[in-house]
Amino acid sequence: MDAAHVEQDLVNILFTEKQIQERLDEMAQQIAADFEGRDLLLVGILRGAVMVMADLARALPRHVEMDWIAISSYGSGTKSSGVVRLLKDLDTDITGRHVLIVDEIVDTGLTLSWLVNSLGSRNAASVEIATLLRKPEALTMSVEPTYVGWDIPNEFVVGYGLDYREKYRNLRDIATLAPHVYT
Ligand code: IMP
Ligand code: MG
Repeated sequence: MDAAHVEQDLVNILFTEKQIQERLDEMAQQIAADFEGRDLLLVGILRGAVMVMADLARALPRHVEMDWIAISSYGSGTKSSGVVRLLKDLDTDITGRHVLIVDEIVDTGLTLSWLVNSLGSRNAASVEIATLLRKPEALTMSVEPTYVGWDIPNEFVVGYGLDYREKYRNLRDIATLAPHVYT
């Protein structure tokens, strides 16, 4: 779906499909350099990180494994519920593995701090985070992503995996949602 198809729902486009690809390519180069000589397991967080995972993994010039975890800290609206639920666990035993969590956005950091603790207790060799977006509030949490695509203002954004009530995930770009959609 293009921004033009839902133009009246969007305030402005923050990042175009092309800009996202370019930034993910840069992040992939950095990740490849940092993890050289080590096996790498990418852990994507369903459902929002599907697009980031697909494009980041393909931009990596090396072998990786991919697995998925589903956790939820959001209700169905634009505010975090503050409660983390594990909806689907990994299929992979991560003992001794180098794990890179792939996420689309860190907002309060609640989800990721919970996940890093959870995976850290399973004797992974290392657990790091790559996120496409980060909101300012996340900076006050104990979550420190090694790889951040962009820091963005504290606005609700949709597209490229990010949803509002399960819609807009298939929007190619990342855009701020017009308040009239959710008020
Ligand atoms: P947390 O507050 O860092 O735990 O963020 C949890 C999840 O909330 C993220 O992984 C997203 O799925 C969702 N989320 C946070 N901010 C936004 C946004 O601006 N748009 C859409 N989803 C968001
Ligand atoms: Mg998410």
